[in-house]
Amino acid sequence: MYIAYKCKTCRKSFILLEDEVRHSELESRYITCPYHAAHRDIIVTGKYDDLKECMEKHPIFKRVNGKMKQIK
Ligand SMILES: [Zn+2]
Repeated sequence: MYIAYKCKTCRKSFILLEDEVRHSELESRYITCPYHAAHRDIIVTGKYDDLKECMEKHPIFKRVNGKMKQIK
């Protein structure tokens, strides 16, 4: 499951794997904006089983080897 987020501060979208999000929650870490770590006003804009479906609806950045990489 992929979860699409949007930073309300810089209005950019990004995507995280649900497993990654759960891991962050377990460690009581906030989901923060990948563009500016200080941005914590993040909203969920969608959840998708299929990455392709998600990419069709959002300009997507995906975490690759710990770095955010634009894939669309
Ligand atoms: Zn931001």
